[in-house]
Amino acid sequence: MAKQEDVFKKVISHAKEYGFIFPSSEVYDGLSAIYDYGQNGVELKNNIKQYWWKAMVQLNDNIVGIDSAIFMHPTIWKASGHVDAFNDPLIDNKDSKKRFRADVLIEDYCAKLEDKAQKEIDKAKKRFGDSFDEEQFVATNPRVVDYRQRQKDILSRMAKSLDNDDLADVKALIEELEIADPETGSRNWTEVRQFNLMFGTKLGASAEAATDLYLRPETAQGIFVNYLNVQKTSRHKLPFGIAQIGKAFRNEIVARQFIFRMREFEQMEMQYFVAPGTELDFYEQWKEKRMNWHLSMGLGKENYKFHDHEKLAHYANAAADIEFKFPFGFKELEGIHSRTDFDLSAHEKFSGRKLQYFDPERNESYVPYVVETSVGLDRLFLALFSHCLKDETLEDGSERTVLSLPPALAPVKAAILPLVKKDGLGEYAEKIFNDLKYDFNLIYEEKDSIGKRYRRNDAIGTPFCITVDHDTLNDDTVTLRYRDTMEQERVPVSELRRIIDEKVNFRNLLKQL
Ligand code: ATP
Repeated sequence: MAKQEDVFKKVISHAKEYGFIFPSSEVYDGLSAIYDYGQNGVELKNNIKQYWWKAMVQLNDNIVGIDSAIFMHPTIWKASGHVDAFNDPLIDNKDSKKRFRADVLIEDYCAKLEDKAQKEIDKAKKRFGDSFDEEQFVATNPRVVDYRQRQKDILSRMAKSLDNDDLADVKALIEELEIADPETGSRNWTEVRQFNLMFGTKLGASAEAATDLYLRPETAQGIFVNYLNVQKTSRHKLPFGIAQIGKAFRNEIVARQFIFRMREFEQMEMQYFVAPGTELDFYEQWKEKRMNWHLSMGLGKENYKFHDHEKLAHYANAAADIEFKFPFGFKELEGIHSRTDFDLSAHEKFSGRKLQYFDPERNESYVPYVVETSVGLDRLFLALFSHCLKDETLEDGSERTVLSLPPALAPVKAAILPLVKKDGLGEYAEKIFNDLKYDFNLIYEEKDSIGKRYRRNDAIGTPFCITVDHDTLNDDTVTLRYRDTMEQERVPVSELRRIIDEKVNFRNLLKQL
């Protein structure tokens, strides 16, 4: 089996070679943790956005979308707590000179304990076969109980220390656990310090008159400060939601995982405004709905899990992550948070404006509570891309690389390929292209052998290849090749639109929700 690092390297090189993702400013040797999306990457990204937007806004008659500005009044970030508390604890290794997030070092240590517990469970499963009672085993096996208890103790001690700003204890924990720099093995650590993740910038023509601004570190605040505008103009009653897709910026301490952790990235967030006291029910509902949304893309149930938070952010009364099995292990893909009335109440206080909702059923005004779902678009991209990229050995012993994306999300839906350019085949193929281009994103290719063109399209995830040959001129049929099975069949040109649409329409995904 290929090593995890090799798989990840292949993902990164394939993304570049096939026009999905390029390092930003590459001719100047790049910019750390900033990436550009290429011609195929932007299509895949747009399709993911569309799928999320349709699932949120189109399928729910009480959710609407907005697009708020990246620049916002600086007091917003004071009110939201980001100026004072949007920090990560950092620690440097004095020998390797590498910087780490202290909390992540400790979490990774716990993930290793969990791996050990899981190994014990898998071993027992094999040994006992059908008679295996996992629940009982997990509750009674001394090793598993010990691994799990140790994780719990470590994480709750870390949560407590971070809450109390006791950074010396976070360092003490790292030392007690003998955590070393993963690459060099050195345990020569600096003290732990807090580091604010917001990027600052200035607004104004002259230096004296300029106002200090921040690049938003999350899109959510744009929704909070607009919630009453939207509520009044849409006339929605609670519960209702506001969805938004947009860029966010964080000066991440450690950014060595390709598009998993970037300094400029995109979030897809939805804030659901509910009556006080009902938030935990909605929180559970949204956890389930969001998990189903992920599962609908067919990457396999075993690759997702919930991780309930021990350490709650300053604004939350419940929080969980949906984790995905990336090539480097299970990591956060989406966060679901019950944010209470923290943000809206803070904006009331700092702005001096009332942000209350009049509830006609309760006959009272109150500040709504909020349940938030927040997923990183780039992380979703990475989940899909890394999972769907496969090397296959074919029956004749040859190899192919295929990107088996869900057809609705594939950058290009069909490739139109004249077998040769001459004898009028090129013109016929162009006619098909011009007829179907109003419905689907297509490519037209006449260079190289047909086999090479099939392989190139497999590698970017094109679900259909349509080959125009000499018979086409006589009977108006073409060869339709399916990406996943590589089967080929002869179909009338007049049927192409229907056949492609059946497979690539978003309906296929949306109906599963
Ligand atoms: P992490 O613990 O990985 O830093 P977080 O808990 O700070 O993430 P949230 O503030 O909950 O993340 O943001 C919601 C989502 O935004 C995350 O689930 C993730 O998908 C995405 N996200 C956050 N930070 C980044 C980043 N630096 N690069 C890419 N995506 C990100």
